[in-house]
Amino acid sequence: MPGESMPGAPSARDAGPRIATLSAVLLSAVRLSAVLRSAVLLLGAMACTTAPPPRPAPAQSRSVATGDVAAPVTGAAHPTRVSGATRQSGAVRRVGIALSAATTTGSLSATGEWRLYEADGDRLLVRGTGRGAWTVTRRGGKVRVSSRDGLTATRAGTLVAEPAAPDSYLTWNGKPYRGAIEITSTSNGLLVVNRLSVEDYVRGVVSLELGTVGPADSAAMQAQAVAARSYTYTRLNDPDIPPEGRRYDLVATVTDQVYGGVSGESAVGNAAVASTTGIVITYAGRVVNAPYHASCGGTTAEPEEVWRASPEPYLQRVSDQIPGTDHYYCEGSSRFRWARTFSRAQVTTALEQNLRQYAVSGTTGGGSGGGTPSDSHASGPVGSVRTVVVDALTPSGRVAWITITTDRASYRVRGNDIRFVFRLPRGEILNSTYFLIEDEPMHDGRLESLSLRGRGNGHGVGMCQWGAIGRARAGQDFQTILQTYYPGTALAHEE
Ligand SMILES: [Zn+2]
Repeated sequence: MPGESMPGAPSARDAGPRIATLSAVLLSAVRLSAVLRSAVLLLGAMACTTAPPPRPAPAQSRSVATGDVAAPVTGAAHPTRVSGATRQSGAVRRVGIALSAATTTGSLSATGEWRLYEADGDRLLVRGTGRGAWTVTRRGGKVRVSSRDGLTATRAGTLVAEPAAPDSYLTWNGKPYRGAIEITSTSNGLLVVNRLSVEDYVRGVVSLELGTVGPADSAAMQAQAVAARSYTYTRLNDPDIPPEGRRYDLVATVTDQVYGGVSGESAVGNAAVASTTGIVITYAGRVVNAPYHASCGGTTAEPEEVWRASPEPYLQRVSDQIPGTDHYYCEGSSRFRWARTFSRAQVTTALEQNLRQYAVSGTTGGGSGGGTPSDSHASGPVGSVRTVVVDALTPSGRVAWITITTDRASYRVRGNDIRFVFRLPRGEILNSTYFLIEDEPMHDGRLESLSLRGRGNGHGVGMCQWGAIGRARAGQDFQTILQTYYPGTALAHEE
């Protein structure tokens, strides 16, 4: 009878020698009744009559740079490494996606039969059927799993869950994921990593990154799949991160690419991934990072216009204007044009929270910014805002620098950082740096409100996703779309 049952209990399928660990002895009291229940939790060095599936290989991990999607930010947080366990790559390249790095508890199950192993030692811990979820918690440096029936096991090291039936998906907190799930206790909490093939990963990305689109937009979805796959391989192939040093490769958020597992997939997205299997974007023979963004607002940007990054020959400014018209391919975006007004209180709140982190220079003396350079602006309130001024525009018309002057100091903020400086608590960052500041009402020398009129959504570099949709609807294929946004590149199959 399938289901969840007691640790260590030899079932009809699990007879064999067992090391009588202390925990196994303590648990033996409840074992007899539990053995009649469905899944079997095997403790200690119990051998199984059925050989467990192939073992995971050592894994890799790192933290990744913060920033926009696929942002090649230089000078951002450098990846750190920890050792751990992962699955060996075979013919199919696999990728580890951190679903959570600092949770303290979660729920593990599956849509069908599944298994839980200790990564170190090939030992089977749980035979699950998917009919009941197991609670996973952190206990010091160990991972504890417990069933609804009160069965528990606590282990150091990484635990690896795998589906055991062809159409079964593991679930973490109720969400289904293809591939395996690895759980490790770290100093930050539970690190939960979904390890799966690159192709399956891209399936869970494209529809969340591009949105739900119809069959008429298939070419845009195919372009999105190739761009997302290329970004993934640049991370996997990053020579600065030794394979043995990784516990995961990417995170499941906008920091890398938004990933939602099976529930993030769509029929159009899966078809686009399948029809472009293995295809990546290359320049001069190497796979390239392929940044993309929601809407360029009319013209894409070169990397150095928004990031502290070097120019790339394949990331050039591209006009999204439809030839012979005054329309744009990305007009379908709700943020193709936008307006935003901050009250004085909102400006103050945002700046107090963010400004010191992003300002690259400041002067004391107030007002004009002509005072003596000083670090005194680095602590205490940023002051009462007097003016926000655009100092310079980039070649595509985006804001290169702004100066914010308060009664305490002047602060300069550059490029994409400006979007983060005006982020309100629990709010979004500014849509783009492609904006103008409207007249600033003043009262008693203080800014009363700040109104921006802007274009586009996102950093503006590389492929414009709404532009890709507009081009697909105009009949362009995905190769043409990618050639447009990444000029000079070629398509190749990643081996
Ligand atoms: Zn565009």
